[in-house]
Formats: sequence, C-alpha cells, structure tokens
Amino acid sequence: MRDKYGVVIGLEVHAQLKTDSKIFCSCSTRFGDDPNSNTCAVCLGLPGALPVLNEKVVEFATKTALALNLRVNHESIFSRKNYFYPDLPKGYQISQYKEPFSEHGWVEIMTGDRDETGHPRDLQLKRFGITRMHLEEDAGKSLHDGMPDSDTRTYVDLNRSGTPLAEIVSEPDFRSSWEAYDYVQYLRRVLQYVETCDTNMEEGSLRCDANVSVRLVGTEAFGTKVELKNLNSVRFLQRALEYEIDRQIEVIEGGGEVVQETRLWNEHENRTYSMRSKEDAHDYRYFPEPDLPPLRVEQEMIERVRAALPELPEAVRRRFCEEFGLSHEDAQVLSATRALAGYFEATAAASGNARSSANWIKNELLRELDARKIEVESSLVTPARLAELLIEIDGGRISGAQAKELLPRMIEAATPLAELVESIGGGQINDADVLREIVREIIAANPKQLEQYRGGKEALFGFFVGQLMKATNKKANAQIANDLLKEMLAPGS
Ligand SMILES: [Zn+2]
Repeated sequence: MRDKYGVVIGLEVHAQLKTDSKIFCSCSTRFGDDPNSNTCAVCLGLPGALPVLNEKVVEFATKTALALNLRVNHESIFSRKNYFYPDLPKGYQISQYKEPFSEHGWVEIMTGDRDETGHPRDLQLKRFGITRMHLEEDAGKSLHDGMPDSDTRTYVDLNRSGTPLAEIVSEPDFRSSWEAYDYVQYLRRVLQYVETCDTNMEEGSLRCDANVSVRLVGTEAFGTKVELKNLNSVRFLQRALEYEIDRQIEVIEGGGEVVQETRLWNEHENRTYSMRSKEDAHDYRYFPEPDLPPLRVEQEMIERVRAALPELPEAVRRRFCEEFGLSHEDAQVLSATRALAGYFEATAAASGNARSSANWIKNELLRELDARKIEVESSLVTPARLAELLIEIDGGRISGAQAKELLPRMIEAATPLAELVESIGGGQINDADVLREIVREIIAANPKQLEQYRGGKEALFGFFVGQLMKATNKKANAQIANDLLKEMLAPGS
C-alpha cells in the first residue's frame, strides 16, 4: 500500500546561537542557572523596555547562513509575531517575516534508506533547498514535570526568553524519513563546524518541526500537510515521520481526509497526538517592530566572515574518500566533528598510514574514549602518540593484539611508549625459530586436540592459536604464528 504513495516533507529547525548574551539585552544565555536569574526589563517584557540588537548575533547568523549557502540580505526587518502564551510575557515574539535575514540556500549531502541493521544503502548525493533562515528571540519555558503541584500549576522560567534563534526553513524537498534524518544530522555537523550552536537536542538548543504529507504517486499537487512537534532527537524525528506517513495513508485508504493540524510526538507510546488545528500566518498579525531599525549587513562584513569559514563537513568527507581512499562510512565517522577530522589527518600524516589510522581511530580509540567519556581533543593519546604506536605495528615491533592492550594504558597516562611496551613484557616475537619451539611444546601438551584436528575438526585451529598467544603473552607475530601452526599441525608433519 505504501508504494502507491509518495511522501513530501519540509523541515523547520530552530538553532540557538551560542552567543554569551541574549539577542536584545545583555543577560546571560547560560543553560541550567536558577530559574529567572538571567532576566532584565527587556527579556521580562516590562512595558517601556527597549530592545537593542546584539552585534555578535549578526556575526554568528552570517556565519551560519554562508555555511548553508544562503544569500545574506543587506537589509532585513524585525517583526512582531503576536500570540498569547504564559512563557511570552510581551504577548509577541520579535521575529522576521517579510524580508528575512537570508534566503535561497541549499546543502548537498549523501543520503539513502537504511537496511534492517540500520546501515545506509543506495547512498546518493542529493541537494536539498533551504528557503530562508531568519532571526528571532526564544520564548521562556513552562515547567510542569517534577514541580510541586504540577497537576494543577504551571511554573514559568524566563531565563531562555530572548535567547537568539536562527530558524532554518527548508524547501519541501525530502521524500523519505531518512532523507529528513540525514539532513538534520548534517545541519548539526555544519553548526558544530562553524561553532555557532551547540546542537544539543535534549537541552533544546536545536529543535526541529516537520511538515509531512502524502500523495498518490503521479499526482502533482501536495496532500494536506500535518505539522509534527516535540521531536527532541533525530531518531524521534525519523520515527515520528514513519508513524505519521502510515497514519495518513490509513486515513486516506479508509475513505477519510487528512486534517491540517499540529501533532505531538509521544516518545513513550511511539505515536503522534493531535495538539491543535494549525494557525495560518495571518493569525499572528505580523507587523514591523517599531522599536528596531532595519538590520543592515555590509558586503564587506559578509566577505570577511566568508573568508574565515572552515572547510565544511561534506567537503571534508568527500576529501577523505578521495585523498585517503576511505569508505563513505569511515569518512562519515571521521568527519563527524572538526576536532575528530583534524585528529585523523594529523595521525595519518605522522604515521604515514592513513588506512590504519582510520581503522584504529574508528574501531579502537573512539570506543575506548567513549567508555571513559573523554573527547578526542582532550585525550592523552595525541595524534603523535597514536602515530608512534601505528609505526611500531607497521614495523613489526609490536603485534596488533599487544597494541590493543597498550592503547587503554596510553589513555590513562602519558608514559612513553617504550616503557609501556616493557611493562607488558617486551615487543613482538618475530623469530620463527623461537615460535617453532613453543609450538612444539604446545603440540606435545595437547595430543587429544591434535588428533581431533588432524581427524578433520578444523575449528580446533583457533584453539592452538589461542594456546600460542597465551604462552607468548600475545607477543607472537600473528602472521608467522599462523603459517607455523598450519605447517606443524598438518597431518604427517
Ligand atoms: Zn535580559
């Protein structure tokens, strides 16, 4: 049934710009302070208080816009968006409506469906349009959960009131939940690379709403769209879209009509609920903010910001594939953050072996660091130290198994590698004669297993490898050990 329908998704992402102070006053934007401690007349919405635009917000917004290939308008207008809500004491939000900060952007990313194990398949490069990115102030927060009398009372915390937001509105370009997922993941990477938002969805510094509709394949016109809110992780976004697509198809197949409304995702029940019928723009009675002049951005400033932009994540990913021959998945992992990308490149350069640098960082180092909640950039294992370890492996002086044992010790202390190698009883044994002698002893001590192996039970080969590694404290050169065992265990040898 699903094949009969096409899906159309558009996304609105609210990103808190991580300036130290708010957009129209000098209060702190710090998260987690005592409720209502970071407030003043402006962000409390007291009568007569006047907003003054924070210059840093304009710089951060310009950076973000350029990284998303948006055209920054030389003049944009702040408007009042009128609505009533307890966490909005002014009764309006200062936002932008006509003449937004920036328009006509796009991103190009690798995207595709996922197989049963969650791995991407049929990846292809796709371009998604970004209609506009405008600036606005965040509202306060209504608190219910975990508060006294929370069944009858609502508490209001205005610390968040006036935090700068960039609202990034996409074109309705997504044709599956996974495309939407990949796009938001990419936005997070970009914002992290240009350091304008910390993209923590659980703390609400990045929030995402989705518009989704379905239509019969071959139809031009869009179906009635439903807005999904309360998607505080990328995973929830993807699941909520899947649920909603199925729900809409069921409604239509049952002879009903999809209603234009806003629905909330419930993460505990894995379903969406109707919240309210959707407002149209005219319900907000937008008009230009009389207390703020038009926002002017000079071309010179735009060019200065553009020149200072870092290489962006998709370009880094592509370069890692081309320059180092990495697979898409490896390149994707290693370009996840700017710090990690830099770490990989420094290790590859110092070790002269990009492939093993990629493998060791992705398969071993990141796992060990994650387990200890250490960021790669603050780890004691600097690129130089990891490269030293890889050079020792490449030179045959320590075995891969030994290196895996050494890595956690390198994370715990900055002890020189030579000392660490001593502490585990010295380097790799590459001397075939020495190993041959040990294998002889192992064979002599395990006649029953030898007989079974020679009788056809080949799985016992692993048993002998294990015995050899145990006898040598994992120091046996794996390749030589393998060849020797094959030779010496063979019938008639
Ligand atoms: Zn304030």
